[in-house]
Amino acid sequence: DRKFFVGGNWKMNGTIESGKKLVETIKSAKLDSNVEVVVAPPALHLLPVQEALKGTQIQVAGQNAYHQVSGAFTGEVSVSQLQDANIPWVIIGHSERRTLFGETDANVAEKTKAALKHDISVILCVGETLEQREKNESINVVVRQLDAVKKEVDDWTKIVIAYEPVWAIGTGKVATPEQAEEVHAAIYDWAVKNLGQGATDKLRVIYGGSVAGKNCKELASKPSILGFLVGGASLKPEFVDIINSKL
Ligand code: 13P
Repeated sequence: DRKFFVGGNWKMNGTIESGKKLVETIKSAKLDSNVEVVVAPPALHLLPVQEALKGTQIQVAGQNAYHQVSGAFTGEVSVSQLQDANIPWVIIGHSERRTLFGETDANVAEKTKAALKHDISVILCVGETLEQREKNESINVVVRQLDAVKKEVDDWTKIVIAYEPVWAIGTGKVATPEQAEEVHAAIYDWAVKNLGQGATDKLRVIYGGSVAGKNCKELASKPSILGFLVGGASLKPEFVDIINSKL
């Protein structure tokens, strides 16, 4: 009975106006009511988008947050500021944060811990680069990324794990269902060992990387794929088809 989860990561795109327009498109469509839908607009757009989504099944997420509550951290948005604004979710550890902005496994762990402490649910991103996949290191990398968070976080009930292979992000090169399933299975194995069977039964592992209207149904039909984290296609009307991929 784990609810299928579809996240839309808008990244650094759009205006307040285009965000509201996108919300109108999604709102006017018929959505599968059994799906948990979360969109992550740019920080400056979180509140107007949340306002526009009032009364719908769709929630919002920050794309990042800083683990300190307040202080001299110019340019950052804190977990407690997200909490103050009633933002229920945050994406932590996206590969763009890791590779372009230098976030380490330890940073990702402390951010995850801080978000949960402030009652914000976390979409925790993990995934290997192409070079790591070619060296057969995909599972090792993902396990290393998860181990780092486990060191800081015991309760994983408010975490959704997004497996996002870096080589599939924004490239149009979606992982095959078999490639995704292999890593998802390894993540569930990791979870049984590290979190226990009970927690694993409640855990959702979702897939991200070039998910589109045309490939979502096949991926969604796999039992280990409990949802998606969508980038580019979440900015288009086809996001509705992805939300409805189980129908
Ligand atoms: P694309 O769907 O554009 O490949 O991006 C995936 C992603 O990074 C979602 O967080």
